[in-house]
Amino acid sequence: MRMIGSRGAAVLIGAASWTAAEYGLHRFLMHELRGRGLASREHLKHHADVTYFSPASKKLASAAATTAVAYPVTAGLAGRRWATAFTSGLLSMYFGYEVAHRRTHTHPPRNRYGRWARRNHLHHHFGAPMRNFGVTSPVWDKAFGTYDDPGVVTVPRRMAPVWLLDETGEVKAELARDYLTRGARRAEADQVDRDRIDAFRNVAPALEG
Ligand SMILES: [Zn+2]
Ligand SMILES: [Zn+2]
Repeated sequence: MRMIGSRGAAVLIGAASWTAAEYGLHRFLMHELRGRGLASREHLKHHADVTYFSPASKKLASAAATTAVAYPVTAGLAGRRWATAFTSGLLSMYFGYEVAHRRTHTHPPRNRYGRWARRNHLHHHFGAPMRNFGVTSPVWDKAFGTYDDPGVVTVPRRMAPVWLLDETGEVKAELARDYLTRGARRAEADQVDRDRIDAFRNVAPALEG
């Protein structure tokens, strides 16, 4: 109990709790609500257009809301000092997650973990939006049976991250064992509308389009 009660442990427990929150919020609040509520709408807009990310003001508002729930609950259970350390661990991981998620879309992998994180998250986007809700870790997907091994991920070319393609529009040679692309590079206006409808139904975007 002394170990768990220490402030260092509280930071770690807060950080670990984030991974569960990341899974739960992404699955239930963002996907299962299918556009009802701000968090779900913002997230499904990101699925319709993978270059869209919520503005920083909305992220800060959600960090404030997380604190407003996590701090009083843990302070009631374990005291204010423990709750301060727990909440700092939770929020650090939240901001780490925000950076990690954005980087999966904007930067190529640099190591084994980065390679897994990109295949895992792009499978969630383009293969199965109701699978692989964890972005930083597969732990909760494995616990709740929503984990797919991403395998080779097929990406609609109109939605391909900038780091995936070479100047001719083909998958870079060093990434070819992990990804395939299909369809046109640019989306027609009606395809943009269909992508939005599919995103709000939790359906993967059409590969040809
Ligand atoms: Zn994403
Ligand atoms: Zn999602």
